[in-house]
Amino acid sequence: MNSLTLICAPVMADTVQQMVTLMIKSKECGADLVEIRLDHLKLFNPLQDVPFIINNSPLPTLFTYRPKWEGGEYEGDEGKRLDVLRLAMERGADYIDVELQVADEFINSITGKKPENCKIIVSSHNYQSTPSVEDLGNLAVRIQSTGADIVKIATTAVDVTDVARMFHITASSQVPVIGLVMGERGLISRILGSKFGGYLTFGTIEPGKVSAPGQPTIKDLLDLYNFRHIRPDTKVFGIIGKPVGHSKSPLLYNQSFKSVGFNGVFVPFLVDNVRNFFETYSSTDFAGFSCTIPHKEAALQCCDEVDPVAKSIGAVNCLIKRPNDGKLLGYNTDYIGAITAIENGLTGTNFTDVRSGSPLAGKIFVVIGAGGAGKALAYGAREKGARVVIANRTYDRARELANVVGGDAISLSELESFHPEDSMILANTTAIGMHPKVDETPVPKHALKHYSLVFDAVYTPKITRLLREAEEAGAIIVNGLEMFIGQAYEQYERFTGLPAPKELFRKILGEH
Ligand code: NAP
Repeated sequence: MNSLTLICAPVMADTVQQMVTLMIKSKECGADLVEIRLDHLKLFNPLQDVPFIINNSPLPTLFTYRPKWEGGEYEGDEGKRLDVLRLAMERGADYIDVELQVADEFINSITGKKPENCKIIVSSHNYQSTPSVEDLGNLAVRIQSTGADIVKIATTAVDVTDVARMFHITASSQVPVIGLVMGERGLISRILGSKFGGYLTFGTIEPGKVSAPGQPTIKDLLDLYNFRHIRPDTKVFGIIGKPVGHSKSPLLYNQSFKSVGFNGVFVPFLVDNVRNFFETYSSTDFAGFSCTIPHKEAALQCCDEVDPVAKSIGAVNCLIKRPNDGKLLGYNTDYIGAITAIENGLTGTNFTDVRSGSPLAGKIFVVIGAGGAGKALAYGAREKGARVVIANRTYDRARELANVVGGDAISLSELESFHPEDSMILANTTAIGMHPKVDETPVPKHALKHYSLVFDAVYTPKITRLLREAEEAGAIIVNGLEMFIGQAYEQYERFTGLPAPKELFRKILGEH
């Protein structure tokens, strides 16, 4: 299936021979066209090299000869630079990029001479910020007035909400627009072009070999984000967090969406302020969100309705935009994932029949941590009839949570000598032991013999030091991946209304 937005591979090299190699690779990777960045060439003989590049390109060509004053590498004579672009046009380039500042002059000079199948892209770059919608609109009109075939506006994302203004421009324009927002916070502008009417996006052959900040690889566009399947009616889902780049959720949900032909795309949203985020992306095009550190508690405050369980926990990790009225509904699937995994661990099965009562009933359940995951575990354990004890670095937070769930609070230092009985359950919900600090552990090994089951919410690494030592001490261990998988099943079902492809989830996470 052809996507509506083209993928263009920027080709930057010292020599034309290297460029040809990269152009061939671009085609192999799945690009639709190549951008020849002439300003990166160290040795360049225009009369010989321009036709050579065009004749040897396996893909349509876009010629760019970017000067220093617009963020490129070229520092020479302007007249000569524009002569080279005219040469490329005459010799069969499919697209020529001209900076707005010189566009009137350039387009005047080619009046009546432009080959029919060559398109002129007039571009403007802002490396500091993204202007208001009004200013962007005026800029697009100004670019169009030069006689451009295609408008290109590249700005910089200071906040993820900046991208919404660019989507507004690409979606409402009557002429083709390349509207991209540079930087990590602008990534969605590069993925969602086909949904919001962007003409072209840039994808690199290799990670990091970018011509502008924030460009994804072609492989990620195609394989991770199912780029060729995105259409104007595709629903957007995503994970809200800071940081968010490490998240496996886009991979998990996009592969699962694809496996059943669900018309959705799942993207990372690097969010600084959740309220601004929800106010900006308020349309039902943005249909559902996973929420992670540090926003789970603030996100709850943004919901129109909150599931009672999530409200008691005080945190949401799953938000759905109700299709009929656009109201934002908040849920907490963390506790279901974790508690189910622990119950299954205790019963030694993949399914615990709740009708026969929870194996957690009556047990002492020690939760380390009182943040989002800690609250989820404490509330879930209480629901199952366990006697909950909270141990937290900040004792007051432990006390507060213990009061809410009707349990006890202890300080982190008391944990080592805490053993009112044997066969207790221990759940670490702090980041202690998480990569890269894999040698850390919240409880010394000798204290673990009092627990029949130890759970760790951390899942990088899968087996933490805590779990390794707990197993050596004779406890059943349950890792954070089981919690992650369990909460993801729940979220998937809420996002799509379809049963989660459980085998596929395990396969994808096992492979990564
Ligand atoms: P959070 O809301 O920020 O809470 C963090 C908790 O950890 C707080 O109680 C904090 O204590 C404590 N803490 C942090 N650093 C500590 C340290 N160095 N020493 C002692 N205590 C420390 O975070 P969260 O959302 O609950 O997530 C916590 C962990 O659970 C993360 O590692 C996350 O990756 C993991 N998690 C896993 C899953 C899964 O599916 N497996 C799901 C959610 C979360 P203070 O109150 O004293 O600050």
